Amino acid sequence: MNKELFIEELKKIDINITDYQLEQLENYYNLLIEENKKYNLTSITNKEDVYLKHFYDSLTILKIIKLNNQALCDIGTGAGFPGIVLKIMYPNLKVTLIDSTLKKCNFLNIVIEKLKLKEIEVINKRAEIYSKNVREKYDIVTSRAVAPLKHLLEYSIPLVKVNGYYIAMKGNIKEELIGINNYEKKLNIKEIDRIEFNLPIENSYRTLIKYKKTSPTNLIYPRKYNEIKKKNL
Ligand code: SAM
Repeated sequence: MNKELFIEELKKIDINITDYQLEQLENYYNLLIEENKKYNLTSITNKEDVYLKHFYDSLTILKIIKLNNQALCDIGTGAGFPGIVLKIMYPNLKVTLIDSTLKKCNFLNIVIEKLKLKEIEVINKRAEIYSKNVREKYDIVTSRAVAPLKHLLEYSIPLVKVNGYYIAMKGNIKEELIGINNYEKKLNIKEIDRIEFNLPIENSYRTLIKYKKTSPTNLIYPRKYNEIKKKNL
């Protein structure tokens, strides 16, 4: 996706990008490529692919939620998708980036420093450990391409405030929805929106699901990772 098309496609989802934000994304791209030579941060390095599959794709969350000055947590952010892109585009967001891989967290801190981003923190932890102690703190929790939906819900929902949202950014999700009703009941959440679409140009399939948290999460969740993996709720 070249820059002209990137700008055009963003307009279709009501995003008017500024010259400064374009410059920030360009700097982010350069850092990603530079650091990717030292550590494997992403397999997508071609510039037009990064603009489509990382930058534009991260911003498709705007199809399902408006962003302004909420507290947002991105679980399994990797090299910063969608969290860093959202922070660049919505500087009033208070962003927490979580990833279990130290080298990715080190990269995120470099980006934050070089781009002079404020009110953004990086936590190098497994999400199921973080959410054991940090309860009901975020207006929005999201994740893109991290784990099966059931696992994500169990360790993401404790972090969400009552009346806040969890947004899953997924590909084809049909199989992952089997048995999800039990998760909705036990974690006190309700699916309130689902959007399916294809990415421009390469047409890969995307699903966004929005859950609303209706009451506090029982302290027994999340269970230990082995249990999460072994036994469905
Ligand atoms: N969200 C990014 C993206 O869309 O490009 C990265 C996706 S990458 C496939 C998955 C990332 O999630 C990895 O960086 C991995 O370290 C992290 N991850 C997986 N399980 C996790 C967990 N339970 N807690 C924290 N990070 C996790």
